[in-house]
Amino acid sequence: MAGMRVLETTEATRSRMSRQRSHDTGVEMALRRSLHAAGFRYRVHRRPLKGVRREADIVFGPVKVAVFVDGCFWHGCPEHATWPKRNSGFWREKIEKNRARDANTDARLREAGWVALRVWEHEDAHEAAARVAAVVIERRALLADRMNRARVNVVEPPA
Ligand SMILES: [Zn+2]
Repeated sequence: MAGMRVLETTEATRSRMSRQRSHDTGVEMALRRSLHAAGFRYRVHRRPLKGVRREADIVFGPVKVAVFVDGCFWHGCPEHATWPKRNSGFWREKIEKNRARDANTDARLREAGWVALRVWEHEDAHEAAARVAAVVIERRALLADRMNRARVNVVEPPA
């Protein structure tokens, strides 16, 4: 972070940064609302794996599904990767580092029996919610099978 302060950034880069640095971005909130309205319950901003400092945006604990909402700029979305021209090396390295970290996070989750789902900031929240819901439902069925009982309790009190 300290290195950022000495950088000259354009107005566009600055606004991209401030927009995407925080949690609870528009798409994340819309996604959560959509899932909640469909009856899904989840936790937000949790580390799915103990001892691993990676936080998922939406977590379905019992079925081990972790959802990450990735900002198009920071995570190098293939559709909207607008690499800043100023300090391009710095930004490219930063974004590549984020992407490598994302891939590593997904791999670690997979190894621990989780499914990592990534939603781009530019995606339609309802479509993304349907995609997440489909995976959660599938995992519930698998879990129910495995536990050989009809009912799996994944309901939590509303936030
Ligand atoms: Zn994008």
